[in-house]
Amino acid sequence: MAKYDYLIVGAGLFGATVAYRAKQAGKKVLVIDKRDHIAGNVYTETIEGINVHKYGAHIFHTDYKDVWEFVNSFVEFNRYTNSPVARIGNEIYNMPFNMNTFAKIWDDVFTPEDAKRRIEEERKEMAGKDPQNLEEQAISLVGRSIYEKLIKGYTEKQWHRDCTELPADIIKRLPVRFIYDNNYFNDRYQGIPIGGYTKLVEGMLDGVEVRLNTNFFDNKAEYKDIAKKIIYTGMIDEYFDFKLGRLEYRSLRFDTQILDEENHQGNAVVNYTGHEVEYTRVIEHKHFESTESPKTVITYEYPDDWDDPKKEAYYVINDKKNNELAEKYRDLAKEEENVIFGGRLAEYKYYDMDDVIKKALDIDI
Ligand code: FAD
Ligand code: UDP
Repeated sequence: MAKYDYLIVGAGLFGATVAYRAKQAGKKVLVIDKRDHIAGNVYTETIEGINVHKYGAHIFHTDYKDVWEFVNSFVEFNRYTNSPVARIGNEIYNMPFNMNTFAKIWDDVFTPEDAKRRIEEERKEMAGKDPQNLEEQAISLVGRSIYEKLIKGYTEKQWHRDCTELPADIIKRLPVRFIYDNNYFNDRYQGIPIGGYTKLVEGMLDGVEVRLNTNFFDNKAEYKDIAKKIIYTGMIDEYFDFKLGRLEYRSLRFDTQILDEENHQGNAVVNYTGHEVEYTRVIEHKHFESTESPKTVITYEYPDDWDDPKKEAYYVINDKKNNELAEKYRDLAKEEENVIFGGRLAEYKYYDMDDVIKKALDIDI
């Protein structure tokens, strides 16, 4: 007889949402995670009174009302609106691409009509062509001047590939707006959990048995018998022992520093879009929650190859080769009895937090 109804592999947002729902339904649940903390990539830790996003800047944004109500039932959210600035050399631009960006790039642009005329001129090089890669997609969206200052360097650092070899889709995440509006997201709801994301996940896992520092693959055979159903949120290719070949991922390296100054960069997120520095973003955590402190904590985010299983696999790579292999793994996953594969790594999808929670709210318990 299985001891638990559910074994949940991974205490990130997918695992925690399912754990909460299963507990509410009166099921016996065990959550394991190989890390020494809960919350997966949204984990926050308090340093100098500031909630530090340990795995990079996380801004909650969603159009799903049920997801917004769900997360707000555990913790109150503030009204933070993400409006990163991009720095290249000695210049600063507003993101995402909007009238503030266009008016700074071109000195004869004041109105939406001016901006459209400029972009139209610059995209003539794409006339009659359907964008086949990220470079062509970017030029046809915002023209070559913006592509070269704000997209090319950042993207090549992030993905360690030429923009001509990357899928156009990656850039479609970013809004292009002909109004003076620096909000990075189009979604109806947006904010940061007051007190940090760890508090949100603690709320979801309240009363659930959690074992940390516990890797599913150290005892796979035993874990498979411990519960009637398994929810698996780790890497899908690893679950199948890489038998169809290895999927590719991108990793990151974070360098976090405590500084003896009150306000280092004046914004939570500054993107570095040129090749003159290796990092892509600098995060100043106190600005997410307007925390008052004489000190500040900043994190440099460096893109990194995922070439060692000890590194975290942060990003899936949705190019043709990896998508095709992932599809084969997803077919195998469908055949696996009593195992549900969910979340960014187990579905091999570039999901945001709300996508992951939405999926977890929609599965049958
Ligand atoms: P994870 O958080 O990765 O959780 C999976 C868990 O499973 C991990 O804790 C892992 O340790 C555990 N695990 C894996 N394998 C095993 C095993 N074998 N045994 C035991 N445990 C295992 N989304 C947004 O909406 N807004 C943002 O601003 C945003 N910014 C981001 C910035 C960065 C730098 C990154 C990398 C992602 C960002 N995201 C953002 C995406 C967001 O992090 C994910 O959508 C979400 O955290 C995915 O949750 P998950 O449960 O699928 O995965
Ligand atoms: N991007 C860019 N310049 C920027 C920010 C983003 O060119 O200043 C591109 C880059 O290719 C990146 C993609 O847009 O991979 C998606 O950006 P997003 O901020 O959504 O990345 P994430 O938060 O997922 O790392």
